Amino acid sequence: MNSQEDLSVREALHLVLARVDILPSESVPLLDALGRILAAPVSAADDLPPFANSAMDGYAVRASNVSGASRESPVTLRVVGDIAAGADPALELTSGTAARIMTGAPLPAGADAVVPVEDTDEQWRGKERPLPAVLNVFRAVVAGDYVRYPGEDVRAGEEVLSAGKQIRPQEIGVLASLGISHVSIVRRPRVGILATGDELIDVSMPLTKGKIRNSNGYAQAAQVLALGGVPVQLGVAGDTEAAVREKLDEAVGVGVDLLVSSAGVSVGAYDVVKSVLDEAGGVSFWRVRMRPGKPLAFGAYRGIPYLGLPGNPVSAMVSFETFARPAIRKMAGHSNVERPSVPVIVLEDIRSDGRESYLRAVVTREERGYVAHTTGGQGSHMMTSLVKANALVVVPEGVTAVAAGTTLAALMIDWPGGVF
Ligand code: AMP
Ligand code: MG
Repeated sequence: MNSQEDLSVREALHLVLARVDILPSESVPLLDALGRILAAPVSAADDLPPFANSAMDGYAVRASNVSGASRESPVTLRVVGDIAAGADPALELTSGTAARIMTGAPLPAGADAVVPVEDTDEQWRGKERPLPAVLNVFRAVVAGDYVRYPGEDVRAGEEVLSAGKQIRPQEIGVLASLGISHVSIVRRPRVGILATGDELIDVSMPLTKGKIRNSNGYAQAAQVLALGGVPVQLGVAGDTEAAVREKLDEAVGVGVDLLVSSAGVSVGAYDVVKSVLDEAGGVSFWRVRMRPGKPLAFGAYRGIPYLGLPGNPVSAMVSFETFARPAIRKMAGHSNVERPSVPVIVLEDIRSDGRESYLRAVVTREERGYVAHTTGGQGSHMMTSLVKANALVVVPEGVTAVAAGTTLAALMIDWPGGVF
């Protein structure tokens, strides 16, 4: 690959994804698995439910005893026991008897159905509900009514979750019910975050002439965190090759899966990131036909995939979205690495320069579908335009004018009305 060649976003993304691999797994406590990807399939050791139990508060009966029961001609049964949830009933139901049973309590031997309490004459007495000696049943049931059988949900030995599955709260619930306290999960990607530039000072410092605060270091660290990755913040390197190299070596020392830097990749007199990578022998490409974010370096530093983002804050964040996010998601084991894309009707005329353009936009839902209006000033230093946006509307390559009313694709950063 000619390292000077201009690439389309697709081609560049393809190259980036080809250079990163799914990370190894680790065993983590159940709740730490949330949002992450299962590395190995999970099979059930037990049936779910584990035993036959009642689906209602009521009375365990033999269905054949109450087959003729109705409001007009109730069937009277002798009450022989009271089974609470968590009990282990020793009793065995014989013909003509019933046992009071609570939801989730084990069905006693000899019973094959449950009559809900509402269909009996059991009464509240003050605050109490004493166990009656006899019970009138007002409805017929058939065997199996209101009984939850073992294995109805999951059979012992069955594979419940396959490798590659993302763990959501419902998967956590299933795993907990199966007694699985630790799961094998793809490790969190560790991403070294470096800001380069002699003009940068830390967020806690007062502004002095010519200096600006390092916002990229924080924004990219937050992007990593939002993806479930671990940011390794390397701070700021000045615009010299030695300073950049020192920080990168520090990152390699502590162990990272990906290096992300911002600035210093353009054609300025002090743009040293590219030469550091060149020297390390690892620049794959450094120009992508996209806006914002044309100058971009991708390669490897001492064997670690390296993404050199542009310095302008919006370009840095959009390039991160476009390239680092999919790479990090792939490393974390996700099969779907891209943002959801929805067709949107654009509400204003748009001009573009022929590069694939990512316009900050607000997408809302109307009756005719999703509509988008851009968030004003699209300068790549205008951070607040990204603050207002919930989407990036994509103007395809080669298109220079889009008329209001045209449908384009929008990459949803948040969903209208909520955050992912
Ligand atoms: P460069 O790519 O080095 O030419 O930087 C492009 C623009 O981004 C310049 O205006 C820089 O001051 C700005 N910039 C670079 N790094 C950062 C950063 N970490 N935080 C905020 N702005 C930055
Ligand atoms: Mg610079």
